[in-house]
Amino acid sequence: MSSTINQSAAELARRIAAREQSSEEITRAHLDRIEQVDADVHAFLAVDAERALKQARAVDAKVAAGEKLGPLAGVPIAVKDTYCYQGLPTTAASRILEGWLPPYDSTVVSRLLAADMIILGKTNLDEFAMGSSTESSAFGPTRNPWDLERIPGGSGGGSAACLAAFEAPLALGSDTGGSIRQPAAVTGTVGIKPTYGGVSRFGLIALASSLDQPGPCARNVLDAALLHEVIGGFDPADSTSINEPLPDLVGAARKADIKGLRIGVVHELGGEGYAPGVEQRFAEAIEILSGLGAEIIEVGCPHFEYSLAAYYLIMTAEASSNLSRYDGMRYGLRVGDDGSATTEEVMRLTRAAGLGDEAKRRIMLGTYALSAGYYDAFYGSAQKMRTLIARDFASAFEKCDLLISPTTPTTAFKLGERLSDPMAMYKCDLCTMPASLAGISAASLPIGLSPADGLPVGLQVMAPAMADERCYLLGGALEAALNDRWGASLLDRIPEVGRPAGSQETSR
Ligand code: GLN
Repeated sequence: MSSTINQSAAELARRIAAREQSSEEITRAHLDRIEQVDADVHAFLAVDAERALKQARAVDAKVAAGEKLGPLAGVPIAVKDTYCYQGLPTTAASRILEGWLPPYDSTVVSRLLAADMIILGKTNLDEFAMGSSTESSAFGPTRNPWDLERIPGGSGGGSAACLAAFEAPLALGSDTGGSIRQPAAVTGTVGIKPTYGGVSRFGLIALASSLDQPGPCARNVLDAALLHEVIGGFDPADSTSINEPLPDLVGAARKADIKGLRIGVVHELGGEGYAPGVEQRFAEAIEILSGLGAEIIEVGCPHFEYSLAAYYLIMTAEASSNLSRYDGMRYGLRVGDDGSATTEEVMRLTRAAGLGDEAKRRIMLGTYALSAGYYDAFYGSAQKMRTLIARDFASAFEKCDLLISPTTPTTAFKLGERLSDPMAMYKCDLCTMPASLAGISAASLPIGLSPADGLPVGLQVMAPAMADERCYLLGGALEAALNDRWGASLLDRIPEVGRPAGSQETSR
């Protein structure tokens, strides 16, 4: 492996600014890596090599001209294919959007470009971000670089896998119920779902608008904070954007001090159904946090057990409404338009051919939940439960500064293992859904490999709304302690892509 692609984003940015290495050379190294491994990993749906190199040369020219550039200038990034970016197809991994070219850039993409970052391409996901394994993508699954027979999590499996496979140093994700955090956990990477309203949703393909939140995916905590600061902050184009300055995230990641912080362990997010290897790493993480001077408190959040039910009612209800725009008339695919077919027939045929099983299942469930006569019983009750879950958080945050849990009940499972059992798939997000429903900030951090299967385990850290910096504070501290203990970062232990998991040799 070249000594470029295993560097942090912060280090790459430093090299570029110091003129030690050009952005073009760094971009090329990542494009070469994609070329070399993506046939196996399939993290990317589209690679934008020429434009990326052009962007890189433009940054190098600015550096040569002595212009003062932002903290990630010249650093490549991969963008989940839920974000509009002009000139590249935006598919949300659905056939129904195949070939659609967005007429504008999403706010987060505009901010990457304004920060002189280099967009390598678009990453794979579950169709319309519905799923936990990236297997519902209409364009084939992404594979977990730790073991190519396993899932990389979902929906943002592509964004997480491209980091673990060293195809990109940074990626953009979007999280509705866990789509940034769960893939981060099962690939040994870092992912943060910011406070709802903290990063603009403008130009993000909507799944469930009251839950969707863009956020950073990275290989370390500081890189995530740097990216979060580039994309975050008020945007008048998003009606739910918070008009307040972002907290000092990079400062918190660097400070990395949790002495005296009160950390709550959520009683309901553990126990039955949690893999012993996950619980073992989680217990160790608690010990380390305590050793770093944090006070550990056990807290109860009694309504969390209803999160899954509430989430799948609200999410499907909103998704059924959002996805009604894909009617064969305005975007992408159109089927059966032979001149004699009625509009209704074309819509029916297009949606039948263009949407996959999971999208259809959710549209039907959501339409039912919203239907007259059932609205109060389903959607109305789910909204009430959402309030009770938010209150559980509020009372927990009276006693603690942060809450923690495992990010996922298990490590990465084998491809195909949960495909015929939607409930088993939905349970992947048991730990991540409560924070989504409450709109608070939550992150996943790597805490080692499960002794049972040698696969990564993640720690979820949850902080009150607009206190995202606390996730970075804890993240920075825990990461430093673990790297010290391991003498390396977790990803230094990943087998070279293509080699079976458990193999001892690595090229690094
Ligand atoms: N896995 C969850 C779902 O299927 C979350 C997806 C997401 O966050 N986009 O809905």
